Amino acid sequence: MNEVRVRFAPSPTGTLHIGGARTALFNWLYARSNQGKFILRLEDTDLGRSTESSAAGIVEGLRWLGLDWDEGPDIQGPYGPYRQSERLAIYQHYIEKLLNEGKAYYCFCSSKELAARREQNLGYDGKCRDLTPAEVNNKLASGLQPVVRFKMPQTGTTTVEDQVRGSVHFENKLFDDSIICKSDGWPTYNLAVVIDDHEMKINHVIRAEEHLPNTPKQLLLYEALGFEVPNFAHVSMILAPDRSKLSKRHGATSVQEFRDNGYLPETMINYLALLGWSSGEDITFFNLTELINRFNLSNVSKSAAVYDTEKLTWMNGHYVAEAETNRLIQLIKPEAIRKGWLTVDNQSYFTNVVELVKNRVKTTNEIFDAVEYFFEDVDSYDTKGMKKHFSKPGAIDLLQSVLEILTTADSFSTSKLEEMLRAKATELNVKAGDLIHPARLALSGRTNTPGIFDVMVILGRKNCIIRTEQAIHFIQEQS
Ligand code: GLU
Repeated sequence: MNEVRVRFAPSPTGTLHIGGARTALFNWLYARSNQGKFILRLEDTDLGRSTESSAAGIVEGLRWLGLDWDEGPDIQGPYGPYRQSERLAIYQHYIEKLLNEGKAYYCFCSSKELAARREQNLGYDGKCRDLTPAEVNNKLASGLQPVVRFKMPQTGTTTVEDQVRGSVHFENKLFDDSIICKSDGWPTYNLAVVIDDHEMKINHVIRAEEHLPNTPKQLLLYEALGFEVPNFAHVSMILAPDRSKLSKRHGATSVQEFRDNGYLPETMINYLALLGWSSGEDITFFNLTELINRFNLSNVSKSAAVYDTEKLTWMNGHYVAEAETNRLIQLIKPEAIRKGWLTVDNQSYFTNVVELVKNRVKTTNEIFDAVEYFFEDVDSYDTKGMKKHFSKPGAIDLLQSVLEILTTADSFSTSKLEEMLRAKATELNVKAGDLIHPARLALSGRTNTPGIFDVMVILGRKNCIIRTEQAIHFIQEQS
């Protein structure tokens, strides 16, 4: 069997959104699970809309996800260039060929004429199909800039054999003679994609369902050009939770946004893999290797995948908790330094704090809120917590008991502090929580923190004493 060759062919007109990333991932997995090649091709023939920064962003997003390519614009390869804007001569060769063979023709209809037809919901009427060579030459000589149209067959059916959707039939008579070359000389998507997939020896085209209506037109071009047809697989749409088309209003949709919002690449990979594919097992978490070992097109679903931010965020929490603390620190470092929370002198303190909270956050960005009281003074207390723990009679005495423990503990360790606090609760005939809750509020200003004895040990004896005394003063001032 031929080596599997697949490609991801984004148009650099925006960011790498999750739909595109999912297409890239499925292609990449298909290549890697078949010891094939994954090719990156930039489809930038829309010169007005394509930008360098978009191309760079897409490349950066793919790298961040860990999807590497075997041939592409930056590394080249045997079938380059890998940017359509550098392949004009190749397209022109085939356009000439189609014109010479009478399979395509020049069309001189003005955009005004065409717009008028569109307004009446009429397609192109084939007006220029039968111009004589003399008429064509006259028009060319007068300086008119024609487009080139492909002669679509007007009868019969074209069938797409799709690996996800089965056989999909299209009536040829529904197709206008489509433009394959614009008046500026650049090919349109349908022609460029066919030529490139052929020239780059792509044998499996895995792409979004939205391209399915283009595929019969491409098949007719394959036939006209005498090219071997690749296998097609059209992957279903990704819908928003309300089953509408996923768009900006549903929150972050680009890979870079997720990265900037504190999501990890392994989360994105795992989550995107499950958007439209399932291994058939009762397993939720997959790393790249596990996906490579399992991925195949027969488990790709025909029905739309529904994107669920909550599940994605939950999944990210799992990966953040599992991540090496040092890696998380590297990710949040610039902001932590900017806030003055990470300095040359407090690296181990910082590490301990991140270690303590990492299984309580869903994104790396949430770490900042989760650790704030380790780096900033407590200058206010949770309102509900105050009512519950600071306003009740005896609150000061309870905090005095906590203070006594903090002051007298001979070793400032979690086990020692816990042992002393529990003994104190028994002595006072109160529940351990009656001491723990006000202590937590005093030390953090919050009602919800990691285990209080861990918090105490990391904050350190001196800081704990200062904060507990400060809470006692605060309650005294209130009463
Ligand atoms: N440039 C096209 C897109 O971004 C590629 C479509 C294809 O894979 O054929 O949608």
